[in-house]
Amino acid sequence: MKIGILTSGGDAPGMNAAIRAVVRTALYRGAEVFGIKRGFSGLLSGDIVPLGSMSVADILHRGGTILQSARCLEFKTPEGQAKAKQQLENLGLNGLVIIGGDGSFRGAQILNKMGFQTVGIPGTIDNDIGCTDYSIGFDTAVNTVLDAMNKIRDTASSHNRIYVIEVMGKNAGFIAVAAGLTGGAEAVLIPEVHYDLEAIATQIIKNIERGKSHSILLVAEGLFGDPNSFEHSSAFKVGNYISLRTGTDTRITILGHLQRGGTPTFFDRKIATLMGAKAVELLLNGETEKMVGFTQNQIQVYDLDDAIGSKKTVSAHELELVSIMANI
Ligand code: ATP
Repeated sequence: MKIGILTSGGDAPGMNAAIRAVVRTALYRGAEVFGIKRGFSGLLSGDIVPLGSMSVADILHRGGTILQSARCLEFKTPEGQAKAKQQLENLGLNGLVIIGGDGSFRGAQILNKMGFQTVGIPGTIDNDIGCTDYSIGFDTAVNTVLDAMNKIRDTASSHNRIYVIEVMGKNAGFIAVAAGLTGGAEAVLIPEVHYDLEAIATQIIKNIERGKSHSILLVAEGLFGDPNSFEHSSAFKVGNYISLRTGTDTRITILGHLQRGGTPTFFDRKIATLMGAKAVELLLNGETEKMVGFTQNQIQVYDLDDAIGSKKTVSAHELELVSIMANI
């Protein structure tokens, strides 16, 4: 069998561990592997290279993706899809491992309809993919946020300030809730759940009165709409309100893309390795249109349709715990 592998959408720490696992499992099982560069863009342009065992040496600990990633609008068109089919046929590739998010999985479904076997691996720091508790990169990104919160807390307590930290997650609040719960944020504001700035300001004033002189508020980047638009900066809007209302010195930190880099944690390397190995096994067993997920602490296989169609929700219990832990 000839297996192609690509990484698509936003990069995430641990993608390299998954690439390594796919390549080495496939070679062990007697299959050939080809790396497709820059997601679907490289598929259309034929930027495809054979991957041997040594081509994935020394990448396990590196963030990003050695195959690079891109967003490719042309692949959404019938002409683009015809080009992709032609390239796959030219090389005789019959199975594909696609590492990315929902959008990338929609691309996988299209390739499947053209007659190619496809298996998806969830790779996005946002952790917003259905049918898996964790996607590759989420754990590393949350740990990066925790590291930043620790540092900011040092200076926040030295100056009795309020800090508003904006974290990634697009329109989802998974990073904010996970980091808020384990980093001791006073409040977490996410797009999925109604928030009340006035109530948060009142609570901060109460906390100050009982001797808690500094606070950290975590806001998800998508709180006020498109996270890529400067006008929608969540941190500035929240910080402005809280500062005026509490009269306390307030500072803003937008963590931005540093959350996307860094050496992957143990957990991301582990799920990436297990998912990569499983994806190859599925292809060699003739399976298609599947996603490898990690649920109930183990690797499980789902239909791509279900993974795309099911909406994962943030834990209301965890969000409630954030407030209980910080404000009692
Ligand atoms: P992330 O969560 O990091 O954004 P993603 O995989 O959801 O990852 P997208 O930008 O949505 O990221 O999709 C990645 C690529 O997948 C797109 O640039 C495009 O090439 C392809 N793709 C997305 N949606 C479709 C679709 N409906 N049909 C065909 N291809 C698609």
